Amino acid sequence: MRYLTNFNTDFLDAIKYDVLIVGSGIAGLFTALNIDDSLKVCLISKDDLKTNNSYLAQGGIAVTFNIKDIQGHIDDTLKAGGFYNDLPAVRVLIEEGRKNVEKLIEYGVDFDKVDGEIAFTREGGHLERRIIHKKDYTGKEIIEKLIQVVKQRDNIHCYENTFLVDVLTENNSVNGAIILMNDKEQVLKTNHVVLATGGVGKLFLNSTNSSISTGDGIAVAYRAGAVVEDMEFIQFHPTPFHSDGEAFLISEAVRGEGGILRNASGEAFMGKYHSLEDLAPRDIVSRSIIKEQQLQGNKDIYLDVTHFEKGYFEKRFPSIFSYCISKNVDPRKEWIPINPSAHYLMGGIKTDLFGRTNIEGLYSCGESARTGVQGANRLASNSLSEGLVYGKRVSDIINHSKKFGIEKYSIKNKELNEETLEYKNDVIVLKTIMDESANILRTRAKLLSAKDKIQIIKDKYESMHSYEKMFLEFKNMITVSSLIIEMALKREESLGSHYLEKSDE
Ligand SMILES: Cc1cc2nc3c(=O)[nH]c(=O)nc-3n(C[C@H](O)[C@H](O)[C@H](O)COP(=O)(O)OP(=O)(O)OC[C@H]3O[C@@H](n4cnc5c(N)ncnc54)[C@H](O)[C@@H]3O)c2cc1C
Repeated sequence: MRYLTNFNTDFLDAIKYDVLIVGSGIAGLFTALNIDDSLKVCLISKDDLKTNNSYLAQGGIAVTFNIKDIQGHIDDTLKAGGFYNDLPAVRVLIEEGRKNVEKLIEYGVDFDKVDGEIAFTREGGHLERRIIHKKDYTGKEIIEKLIQVVKQRDNIHCYENTFLVDVLTENNSVNGAIILMNDKEQVLKTNHVVLATGGVGKLFLNSTNSSISTGDGIAVAYRAGAVVEDMEFIQFHPTPFHSDGEAFLISEAVRGEGGILRNASGEAFMGKYHSLEDLAPRDIVSRSIIKEQQLQGNKDIYLDVTHFEKGYFEKRFPSIFSYCISKNVDPRKEWIPINPSAHYLMGGIKTDLFGRTNIEGLYSCGESARTGVQGANRLASNSLSEGLVYGKRVSDIINHSKKFGIEKYSIKNKELNEETLEYKNDVIVLKTIMDESANILRTRAKLLSAKDKIQIIKDKYESMHSYEKMFLEFKNMITVSSLIIEMALKREESLGSHYLEKSDE
């Protein structure tokens, strides 16, 4: 199916922009701010501007200020990524991180300091302290400041609660988009569309992600014929707070500052699994937790910070502290119950080193893009920096483009004609399938069974038509879930976050 809805551009209201940026996370906002102010930019977000994964980021930004550490940061990124990363993309990330972070500071982002100098912390997989942060709400600090600056720019118009349905293409070239603005379908005419639509965590029941993370941009790009790759690589964060129905993150920086994982008997078990113990790469820590849970008869696993210096935890991690208190756990005296949850997508829309896809005028940056930076497993705190570095590179390409000004066109889609069935129960069914099959310890048998089950859901809704945002999101979720399962089945060996156990098929 090429398009998600029926439309005829001759009969839709149209607005015209030089550039459409889809997403108000760090990647979308930073791209917008770096676009030349002579170009008219439309920035849309499907919820409000602050509802996104960037806003939720706690730990910080991995950035090398010390030139002597560049090779070390590259090595740690490759090691965490299972050496599946594209080295040129990693080099770009690490060599260009500092100048883009300095731009953030110019925009007013305030990072924590010690004696007037920026403070660095450590997280899993990093052999050096190279993560800058604002207490445990780094993402909130960045997004609030970037939104303030974006709103001062006359050339950038922001539209909240505006949903990208599809990009319009002719001859492998972008000439606009179909959007739902105030629940009304419209055409947005442009030669340049940047997909900064974030990840896919909400394909799972158990996830740290914001509600927007349903993989829309990836599904849109796939329908348009863009190459999508490495969707099997999904990172599970080891230490979200264990509570039903939500997975509030307990940042890895807590372990970076000395937090210790313990099983229900009180044993600090990570030494059994990896020489870096609690600071091993995330995929290893998550798998170790699941294995330890199994060994312990499915009892909870805990994070212990009771040994921290008096007053330190609540000062350094105020949001995590108040969340724990709201759940009746006082981390100063008790261990925090944790449970790994779906967190981050390493794959996505395949781009080159400038965020360009195989479709002219279609770009992607941030979590929706597969730049090759993250390999088979992301090194902690390398994603905010990816949004900055590659967002800037996308804007450079657009600034140098000469292709602006859409000619008249007429595009119709009439593939869909049935009415929508009641679908909301199937959203839960789909997420349950994903939780059970595309999880931390996978088996071929479960993946094969998931493929069949998703095909049934796909067939049921394939020809259905609706302008309801949630239904369109659901259709995108079906597409992206299928891509994840298909790609997981194709990769027959374990690598990075894709870990296969033996099973009887
Ligand atoms: C709890 C948590 C903590 C994290 N902590 C860290 C950390 O400390 N350091 C780090 O480096 N990384 C961290 N990460 C990962 C990091 O936050 C994300 O990878 C990164 O912020 C993604 O940024 P983005 O701009 O690509 O996407 P997002 O910030 O998720 O933004 C996506 C945007 O796309 C829009 N959108 C999506 N679909 C549509 C559509 N159909 N129409 C219109 N708009 C659409 C959304 O509305 C949203 O504005 C964390 C993630 C989580 C969930």
